[in-house]
Amino acid sequence: MKNIAYYNGRTGLIEEMMIPMNDRACYFGDGVYDATCVVNHVPMAFDDHIDRIYRSAKLIDIDIPMTKEDMKAMLMDLVRQVEGDVLFLYWQVTRGVGPRGHAYKNAGPTPSIWAFVRPNSMRDPFGAYRCITMEDTRFFHCNIKTINLLPAVIANQRAEEAGCDETIFHRGERVTECSHSNVHIIKDGALITAPCDNLILPGITRAHILKICAKLGIPVQERPFTVAEMMAADEVFFSSSSALTCRIREIDGKPVGMKDEKTFGAIRDAYQQELKAECGVK
Ligand code: PLP
Repeated sequence: MKNIAYYNGRTGLIEEMMIPMNDRACYFGDGVYDATCVVNHVPMAFDDHIDRIYRSAKLIDIDIPMTKEDMKAMLMDLVRQVEGDVLFLYWQVTRGVGPRGHAYKNAGPTPSIWAFVRPNSMRDPFGAYRCITMEDTRFFHCNIKTINLLPAVIANQRAEEAGCDETIFHRGERVTECSHSNVHIIKDGALITAPCDNLILPGITRAHILKICAKLGIPVQERPFTVAEMMAADEVFFSSSSALTCRIREIDGKPVGMKDEKTFGAIRDAYQQELKAECGVK
């Protein structure tokens, strides 16, 4: 198949799938999601993504009506049905279907499970990208991977309008993350990345990067950093499951980073190797 969608046990083409209007996703964005790239029909860091959606769901009182093993099996069944070397796997759990009303009453309705798989193309890992910055006006629950993404949608639209690839958020002077990725800097051979608090999503790629740094002996500082530090850093890059690691060469029209290829390249190459091994790519 060219793509596939799933909703509570029903499957079909994404563009033909119908869902009930009363699913609370439609009124409230009342749900959580996760997503990853699939190479050679192997979803990258699958267990990490599965664990995260259960964590996100718990944080908003959703009890997913499926075991982790069953969820993996259901998603793998979808993945196997779609042709292509590189695919995008997206899935979400919403609070379920019920008449519109803010409170969800005790345990709430039965949660709905949605998913889709479609072909994907990945960014050039050797490219150098352009970003803009924007004040981070999102809420204080950015650690939850919720489907409430309006500020991220607007921010990414602004990046596109500026001919750029990502928007880097900051709260005052503190850099938080990007519209749909984490952002990191390298200074004097050390990786500096925002701490995992309620202002950022604990990225799975970020976690893998930290493990790689430990393996390669690259010092890591998990601490808030400022816009001024970012602009003066030796390297700036963003990371996500679909972008992997993307070096940034320009922010708000000013040249940045691109001064420590050795450290950035070591992280990028180690991550590429790790993924290739996981997905059986030669
Ligand atoms: N931060 C935000 C706001 C995101 O939406 C994402 C990915 O969707 C990330 C960070 C990166 O997370 P991951 O590396 O798990 O894809």
